[in-house]
This record gives sequence, structure tokens and C-alpha cells, in this order.
Amino acid sequence: MRIVILGPSGAGKGTQAQALTKHFGLKHISTGDILREETKKESAICRAVKRLMDRGDLVPDELMLSIVEGIAAEEDHFILDGFPRTFSQSLALDAICKRIGAPIDIAISFSVPDNEIIQRIVGRLVCPKCTAMFHIHFLPPKAEGICDNCGAELIQRVDDTVDTVKRRLQLYHDLTAPVVDFYRRSGILLDINGQGDAHEITKDLIKVLEEKGLEKR
Ligand code: AMP
Repeated sequence: MRIVILGPSGAGKGTQAQALTKHFGLKHISTGDILREETKKESAICRAVKRLMDRGDLVPDELMLSIVEGIAAEEDHFILDGFPRTFSQSLALDAICKRIGAPIDIAISFSVPDNEIIQRIVGRLVCPKCTAMFHIHFLPPKAEGICDNCGAELIQRVDDTVDTVKRRLQLYHDLTAPVVDFYRRSGILLDINGQGDAHEITKDLIKVLEEKGLEKR
């Protein structure tokens, strides 16, 4: 099963993708996580990519496609989180899938009002080691500042500031909304209200995906 997960940063797609991959035994592929790993390397390209990410801008399509093309060819059961983010990326992904004869089965889109996204992002904590996510108020770790999963010290992402979030939201509405329409027209879109208790949303999603034939692996 090949799933793409859409929604602005802070809509809960990373948290839900992690819960679903754990439940169903899929691979979680987050383009943001892949890029954050890449930007730890010392090269002019990595530094340029980091600058774009830090101010909330998108990384050029050519680089994103070179990352995603290999993954789509290698993996059969995945949740792709953070890609496609532009209409041209969705067309490119469609072309890759047609070429390898493995279509995207489901696109899940999370919607949350912008003001709630901003609240969520500014209190967000992430684990730099295992990428688990927490929130100072809404999803606090058991021990303050420490990852429940692996014990690493939690951090705030450099791009999780009010100004950068506003920039990312603007880009989402301008550039990613057409991607949601693309999958709606393809008949594979699952529209999810991302407001409310994260565990309840996971339970509902699992039920819907099971009804669509997704089984544990
Ligand atoms: P995320 O972790 O999904 O919020 O992504 C963090 C940052 O990585 C984004 O703000 C972009 O700078 C970059 N990024 C991730 N995925 C993509 C993509 N599909 N296209 C362009 N840039 C991306």
C-alpha cells in the first residue's frame, strides 16, 4: 500500500504517519526528516538547502525528485510525508508511479485552522534522534524535555517560529492546495479533520484504512 499524507506543518501529519506506520508496519518516509539529515553534512549545497529550510521556503523540485524517485522504486509499502508539496511534484510523482507500475493508493489530507497550527508549532518539541514529536501543552513528554521513546533530549526546530510558520502556511495554501485537488480528482483523497485528540484521530484513521483493505504487515 502506497500512501501520501498531506497537510500543513503542524496539522499532525508527522504524528499520524508515525502512529500508522507503527500499527500497519509500513515505512514512514518524511522528506523533511531526510533533508534535515542531509543538511548535517558539510557542503555548499547542504548549506544552501538549510538556509531555505530555516526560513520556511521550499527546496527545489529537482533535488526533491532525486530523493523521492529512488524511494518510490525501492519501497512497496510506505507513507510518504511531506511530498508532493507542489502541483508539479504531484505530476512528477504520478509519472514515476506510472513508469514503475505502482500507483499511489490513498492520499490523506489533514486540515486544521491556521491559528491553531501556529499555537501547535510554537510549542512543538521534536526528538533529534528518533524524530518522535511532542508538545509543551498538548502532548507533553513523561519527563520534561526528554523523549519518551529513546531518552534523547528534545529540541525545538529552528524553523518552528511564528514568522516561519506563517510563511510555510502561506506556501501551503498557495502551492499545496492544488495537490489536494489533484488527489481529490483522482478519487483517492481521504479528507481528515486534524482538530481534536490525536489518539482518537489515529483510531478513526486505522478504521477507515482497514475498511479500504489495509492490513497489518
Ligand atoms: P517538514 O518537516 O515536512 O515540515 O519540512 C521541513 C522543510 O523541508 C520544509 O519547510 C521545506 O523547506 C523542506 N521540504 C520538505 N519536503 C519538501 C518538498 N516536498 N518540497 C520542497 N521542500 C520540502
